Amino acid sequence: MCYDGSAEHPSAPETAAGAAAVSPGRRAFSRLLLAGSGLAALSACSPGEATPTVSAQASASLSATTAGTTATASAAATPSADPVPDTPEATVTATTPPAPEPSAAAAPAARHSLTDPASPWVVVNKHRPLSPAGYVPADLVQPRVRLATSGESALLNSTTAGAAEKMFAAAAAAGVVITLASGYRSFNTQIATYNRWVNAEGQAAADTASARPGYSEHQTGWSFDIGDGSGRDSFTPAFANQPAAVWVKANAHLFGFVVRYPWMLHEVTGYYYEPWHLRYVGVGTAGEMNARGITTLEEYFGLEPAPGYL
Ligand SMILES: [Zn+2]
Repeated sequence: MCYDGSAEHPSAPETAAGAAAVSPGRRAFSRLLLAGSGLAALSACSPGEATPTVSAQASASLSATTAGTTATASAAATPSADPVPDTPEATVTATTPPAPEPSAAAAPAARHSLTDPASPWVVVNKHRPLSPAGYVPADLVQPRVRLATSGESALLNSTTAGAAEKMFAAAAAAGVVITLASGYRSFNTQIATYNRWVNAEGQAAADTASARPGYSEHQTGWSFDIGDGSGRDSFTPAFANQPAAVWVKANAHLFGFVVRYPWMLHEVTGYYYEPWHLRYVGVGTAGEMNARGITTLEEYFGLEPAPGYL
């Protein structure tokens, strides 16, 4: 879902520091491939070619470590976002279960479409392609954040860009470096990316590694992938233990973001854990999801799980 398969990632430098920053990323990625780790290939946007199987031992270790560090980061967080909530109800279709009740702290607010790609609540997954398929956000801008990419990939829709600027600045103030590694991805780019996978690995393998054209959340401008400036563990599950990922897991909701593909919920989201892929949904929604312990948009909006294409 995230990695676009271009030559830019993950070997591209995460920092402007130059060639010195390139090597660690390449080495780290090479080590993963050499180790035969399937973890990299599990993410829908990683370029790994390994067999898509999860190591339970690695999973448990990763989860435990992340949980410990998250608690620390969360305690140090300084909420600064507008706490106006927006609750899901009216836009959920009649065929779905009733939307969850707003929390006691929630107040009435604007509601948004779950299908309009210009809506912060749009849900794009393997059951829900973008409509229209060739959608292009009308307000793409380049956020004033530390970039580890260029071209269209450095763009976000204007709301997401503004929220990202606040979040990256807050992270920097806490001593955590976050870079924008991959943002907007056009329909045509997704076609090229997906076709590369099909040609190299066949369609079945391609579908586990790259979103089909018209099914990538990156095309909405509401999503982006982060790095940490070092390239270390970029686009691998191990990135969850890096300070950038730990910080966003604990604090992203304060700025309206969720980690869109949480750990072990691939049967709901259709994608394995991607600690680097963030999605803007609004401060109220992200805050309510965090408070209620709901980590997927499918569950929050009462939508059916989308483990694979229909
Ligand atoms: Zn992504």
